[in-house]
This record gives sequence, structure tokens and C-alpha cells, in this order.
Amino acid sequence: MAQKARYPGYKYRFDLLKIPIIKRIVKSRSFQFAVIFPNFVVFIILMVSAFIGSPVGNKNLAVLVVWILWWAALMIVLTPLGGRLWCMMCPMPAIGEWLQRRTFTKKKREKGYGLAKKWPRKLDNIWLQNFSFLTVSTFIGVLTTRPWATGIMLVLLVLVLPTIFHMVFEKRVWCRYICPVSGFIGLYSMVAPIELRVKDRGVCLKHIGKECIRGSPAGYGCPWFEFPQNLNRNAYCGLCMECVKTCPLDNIALNIRLGGNDLYVEPWHGIKKKGLDEPFKAFIMSTLAVIYALVFAGPDPWFKDVANIFGGETFSRIFVDNVLQESFHPERLATFAAIVWGSTLVVMPVAFLIFVVAAKALSGWKDSPPLKKMFINYSYMLVPLSLTAWIAFALYILLINGSYIIAVISDPLNFGWNLFGTKDLPWTPIGTSVIPYIQAAIIIFGLIWTVNTIKNISKAMFESRSKAIRSAIPIVVFAIIYAILVLNVWLGVFDVRGLLGGLIG
Ligand code: SF4
Ligand code: SF4
Repeated sequence: MAQKARYPGYKYRFDLLKIPIIKRIVKSRSFQFAVIFPNFVVFIILMVSAFIGSPVGNKNLAVLVVWILWWAALMIVLTPLGGRLWCMMCPMPAIGEWLQRRTFTKKKREKGYGLAKKWPRKLDNIWLQNFSFLTVSTFIGVLTTRPWATGIMLVLLVLVLPTIFHMVFEKRVWCRYICPVSGFIGLYSMVAPIELRVKDRGVCLKHIGKECIRGSPAGYGCPWFEFPQNLNRNAYCGLCMECVKTCPLDNIALNIRLGGNDLYVEPWHGIKKKGLDEPFKAFIMSTLAVIYALVFAGPDPWFKDVANIFGGETFSRIFVDNVLQESFHPERLATFAAIVWGSTLVVMPVAFLIFVVAAKALSGWKDSPPLKKMFINYSYMLVPLSLTAWIAFALYILLINGSYIIAVISDPLNFGWNLFGTKDLPWTPIGTSVIPYIQAAIIIFGLIWTVNTIKNISKAMFESRSKAIRSAIPIVVFAIIYAILVLNVWLGVFDVRGLLGGLIG
């Protein structure tokens, strides 16, 4: 029997589509509507609650669900285990896509209604997603304390912006290139134990029809601009399941996998080279994991104050704020914006570059790959490292503030209801004495995972084992320093601002 054309590392896979009921469900044209619509309704309720519910952050359903429950679900479960599972069910592009297709479920014409313009080739990267995430992060202090701010964000992200993009551009330009959430989900989806791939690339290469990109009566051509035949990373497959419906040769698999090599392979089999956009997404996420931790849970109130661009008072915990003291502090906004944008786009990349230069020098300057290639390739080690830092953060936020959610669901719209009898439940943080140890364990696990990732990245770049080891040493040192920094935020061993010699503040 002829060998199937598969990717290196394609083992330990189980195709979920071999289970007939799963295949029947995802092949149904109603599938995506069925998973999106409930979330759409929930987000509409959140918007209403943001504007008419309690004006206090820790009593408002929208603030609590978006910034505690949804964030924790994304960071702890959905993305690390499901990759782009959230994108499959996300309500943000819903209105736009329904208008673009003029149907909820059916297959109509392939070319979308609206202007259906092509996305500019120059913007075929995730820089806009990097900037959109930084913009949201600049206002994180006000978003997590002022329900109206979360409400405006939801209106923009669920009703207005994606709809405009769907009406002007073809397919899911919003999801692929702009959405602030999609950028980091794409990055972290690369380590998820699930992947959508073709079963046999050889079959694709011989197949003329290419319905997976052209569309067919069974479904639309890939809305995410992916070509399943070339899929070898999870980064930009939105798991929409259109190609499962359209491929007439039944050549699509939805694999559960043990380990993946998404972080070490070139995208598109070398057709498209890796740029700096994904590494900068990794710098942004790894730096913000530290900044968010300092703002939301750090020992130094200065970080909380500077993020609180509207408050007159120090807020002890970020979800609580004295809403009566509304005064805009432009100097705080400028300082926090400088911290968010400067640390992610300048400080972190420059620090990382220094270690990559050391890696190149140690492995032999002349015989090692170009500096840019080493910089890009090694930056992917930040994916497991920062993902575990975010898991530690999200777990803390959930356990410390989760009880607010139990209280607010009894009176989600601030009408004085007590639907489940939990309205007066006092703030009850869970596991305060053990959380730092759990976080430490998560971060140490992340460090071990990262060292293994560095080894694999290095192995993929160097033929010589000794050069690979020498080159990896500075990058491992960088990872250890980062892990110590994150551990310190949670365990509070030394004073970060003090150590920076009062450079900030
Ligand atoms: S339609 Fe199916 S077989 Fe043909 S290229 Fe696409 S995934 Fe491959
Ligand atoms: S590759 Fe398939 S599942 Fe992934 S986004 Fe494209 S059509 Fe959807």
C-alpha cells in the first residue's frame, strides 16, 4: 500500500471524524450556527447588563463574565486544549457573516454580498491584531472597573467593527487579520492537542477540483483564507468545518494529537516565510502576562493606580472601584500606554535580541543561520512559556474573584432580583493559601516545556548537535530569567520597581 503523504511528526494521532456522530454533526450546515448563536445571545445579554446593570465593576455581569469567566475559560481550557475552538463558536463575526452570506446556515453564492474586496497583500500578517490587542490592553484598568467601558468594547467588537469589515471585505478578514482575541488564540493554538489537517497530502496534490478553497454546493471555500492541503500549523485555521463539508474526497481529519511541531515548522511549506508579526505577538503576550499580573495582583499599588486612568482613589482590587470619583487622568494614560507599548514592542524584543546574539556567537557566528532567522525561530519558545504565565494569572483571577459571579447571576441586570438566592453572597476568595504554590508549579512546568521547545527549535536549525546545544544555552537562560520574574510577581520575593532603581514611578 502506498505511504500517505504526511508531515514529519505525524504520529500519535486519532481522527475524531472517524466517530460517525461527530462527523455527522460537523458536516451539518447548521453546525456553526448552532454553536455560535447561544454565545451571540449571551453576549447581547452582557451588553445590556453592561449599560443597565450595576455601575460597579464587581457587581456587573458583563465585567465579571468577560474579564474573569471568559478570560479564564480562554486561557485555561479553550485555547490550550482546544486551539481555535473559541473561534469556531465566537459571536463576533456572526452578524457580519450572516449579512455577507444572506443566510444563517445555507450555502448560497460563493462571493459574499457587500463589497467583497480583497484584503491588501501588504497586510497579510497579524500586525493589526498585535496593535488591536495592545489598544485593548492600554485601557484594561478602565475596562475591568467600568461596566460602560466594557459595554462600549462589546458593542464595537461584537456589533460594529466585524460587521463593517464583513461588508467591505470578503470572507473572515476580521478574524484573520484584525480581531484582538484571534491573534493570541492563533499563537497559543499551535500547542493545542487538536489539529485540522488533510489525511493525505498526496490526494490533495492530485485533486483538480479544490472545493476546499473554491467552495461547492456543500459549503464555502475556506473563510479564513487557508489552503487545507498546505496546513501544517494551527495558527490560522478557525475550525469552522467548512472544508470537512466541501472536500469531496473525504480527505480532512480533525486529529487529537500528542505533541505537535507547529512551533518548529515553516508555514505553508516554505511558500510563505515566517515574518516578525508572530514573534512580536509572542513578545506582546509574554510581556503583558507580567504587566497584567502586576496591575491585577502585584504587591505594588503604583501599577494599579497608573492603570486606573479614571479613578481618583487607589483601587485595592481591580474589579472594585469607587465609581463616584470619576476624573480622567491623562498623565496616567500616557504612562500606562508607554509601559504597555514600550515594554512589548521595544524592551522585550531588544532584551531577547541580546540573548539571540549570544546564541549566534556561541554557535559560531559565521556557520549559524542568519540572525533574523534565529531571532524569529527562537521567539516561538515564548509560546509555552507565556501561555503558562497566563494560565497562572487567569487561575488567580478566577479563584480570587469568582465568587462575585455567583452573586451577580442572581441579579444580572441590577433589578433587585435574587434568582438563585446567591445575591448577597459575600466576596469569598478560594484557595488563597495554596494559589501561589499552584502558580509556581504551573510556571515551573511551563519552564520545563519551554526548555524542551528550545531544544526542538535549535535541533531544527542546526545539523551539528554541539552547535545546537551551545546556541540553545542563552535562550534557556532567557527563559529562566522570565520564569523567575513571573514567579516573583506571584510570590513577591523582591521589589521590581526598587530593582529597576526607580526608573518608573
Ligand atoms: S478538496 Fe479535499 S482533496 Fe481537494 S485539495 Fe481540498 S482538502 Fe485536498
Ligand atoms: S481550513 Fe477548513 S476548518 Fe480551517 S478555517 Fe479553513 S475551511 Fe475552516
